[in-house]
Amino acid sequence: MSLQHTGSSFSPNGPVAPVPHSYPLSIPHRKYENNYTVKKGKKRVMKNPFHIMLIPTLGCPSKCSYCWSSEEGSPIMSIDTIRDVVTWLKDFRNDRVTFTFHGGEPLLAGPEFYRQALPLLSHELHLLNPEFAMQTNLWRMTPEIARILAEYHVPIGSSIDGPETITDSQRGAGYYEKTMRGYGIAKAHGLNVRFICTFTNKSIKYRQEIFEFFLKNGFTLKLHPALPSLRSENPGQWALPPEEYGDLLVFLLDKSLEHMHEIDVMNINDLCRCVFTRRGTVCTFVDCMGSTFAVGPEGSIYPCYRFVGMPEYVMGNVRDHPGMNDLMQSEAGKLMGRFKDYVDTACGECRHIKYCRGGCPYNAMAPTPGEIRGVDSHCVAYKRIFDEINDRFNKEMFELPMMEMSAFPSKSKKVVKPGIMALMHKVVSQ
Ligand code: SF4
Ligand code: SF4
Repeated sequence: MSLQHTGSSFSPNGPVAPVPHSYPLSIPHRKYENNYTVKKGKKRVMKNPFHIMLIPTLGCPSKCSYCWSSEEGSPIMSIDTIRDVVTWLKDFRNDRVTFTFHGGEPLLAGPEFYRQALPLLSHELHLLNPEFAMQTNLWRMTPEIARILAEYHVPIGSSIDGPETITDSQRGAGYYEKTMRGYGIAKAHGLNVRFICTFTNKSIKYRQEIFEFFLKNGFTLKLHPALPSLRSENPGQWALPPEEYGDLLVFLLDKSLEHMHEIDVMNINDLCRCVFTRRGTVCTFVDCMGSTFAVGPEGSIYPCYRFVGMPEYVMGNVRDHPGMNDLMQSEAGKLMGRFKDYVDTACGECRHIKYCRGGCPYNAMAPTPGEIRGVDSHCVAYKRIFDEINDRFNKEMFELPMMEMSAFPSKSKKVVKPGIMALMHKVVSQ
């Protein structure tokens, strides 16, 4: 009776936190290398327009209280399925692609799986410039797997919910210690690891302590609100109410400004980027249908990893090499299309529609078992933070003297607290 994915997003969380992965930001680039472009000698994050989530298994050794993404006895994906993925994608869509290994717990597939899968995807699909990411709880990380992942520059998303006591109270005794052990191995092999922190209606009261934990340890913070699930029988047990999620986002916006040069809060950066560019830059805030697919352990294709394991959301199978039209004409494909049309009407008068797009279709359908009767249930939170960012931006732009927008000391040597424009400047120049 779990609520949601957590565990092991980079979007990268093993059984994981529904990881709003990042999406296309059109930044001109000269040279393409892995997840970056090189511009004027600086590396910049380059988001790929096409995302395939590979779910090697829905099995997971951890038992996080609010996770809905694991399934006991789930099979492990075979290398033949990876070969089918390769054949399917050769003629599917001609765009740069990111593959995220997600779960369940993807490391359960073992080193031999990655030793074969990574070169197959990388070399056979080189025309799509594949990049990789993984969402894992790190429990099964070994030096052998870390070496393989490091060879393909696979960034890792993992999950901890704050200090050990808070993490273990939500994810089970011993979770923190096992994840930190894997983290040590990953770091020792040069892997880039970020953590997603799931805030529940229980941990929210410790938000200051949780923020300080991430700050003190030098971890980038990506937050995930505990959500109701299509599989859940008791959706209110852990879920963070939208109003509290909105408060949390404003709290983290203030903390981001206060500690602008010490910590990145990914969600706040993404929200600022959305407002600044007037377009969604993470999957939650774009029309994700057709840009994201997930492949389950036995080759079934779904709209997103969050639907994996539910037969009613299967769009096709990689062994049949379906085209885009085939997938979008499936019942699940048509459902996703109807959500897009619904948003055009339901959010038509909202000032944020261009860079919100009604939020996540899964979040919208989870409370109403697969029916479209509203937009993302976090609409209240999105409106709150988008209003806050826009209003602060306009205030700084039109009301404050120039020097007060800056993150730097003024001529009078008075240090001014950075404002939203300083944060936006930091974010778009990253
Ligand atoms: S359903 Fe779409 S918006 Fe929601 S998590 Fe999946 S890809 Fe992202
Ligand atoms: S903030 Fe709410 S009403 Fe506005 S676009 Fe997003 S989901 Fe729709």
